[in-house]
Amino acid sequence: MENCVFCKIVNKEIPAKIVYEDELIMAFHDIRPQAKVHVLIIPKEHIPNNLYFEGKHKTLIGHLMLKANEIAKILGIAETGFRLIVNTGKDSGQEVFHVHWHLLGGEPLGKLICK
Ligand code: 5GP
Ligand code: ZN
Repeated sequence: MENCVFCKIVNKEIPAKIVYEDELIMAFHDIRPQAKVHVLIIPKEHIPNNLYFEGKHKTLIGHLMLKANEIAKILGIAETGFRLIVNTGKDSGQEVFHVHWHLLGGEPLGKLICK
């Protein structure tokens, strides 16, 4: 997808601090971390957000969830705990329209929502 910053990261057109990659997904550090550890986990396929998942993506979604645990272990935050967030649409504040899981941890994260 042209002009998608995460597709550009997938295609190695712009740099990112990659922590995990396989044929389906990639995980890299967020450029503006909002916790001690803040990594984004994305499918390599360009899917704008959660609403665009279809039945054919079931395996991919399961893969993302299972790998999130593995990535949390790689980052050393599995034991102490972490949070996964998937912003979807305007009210969530979604900025990048290539679906991604925010993986946050490394310190107490406070309340789920702050306005
Ligand atoms: P959203 O608000 O869409 O859920 O989150 C998008 C996230 O992508 C933000 O936390 C933002 O800091 C991160 N981000 C935006 N552009 C880049 C980039 O070029 N590289 C990296 N590593 N993260 C980015
Ligand atoms: Zn994309």
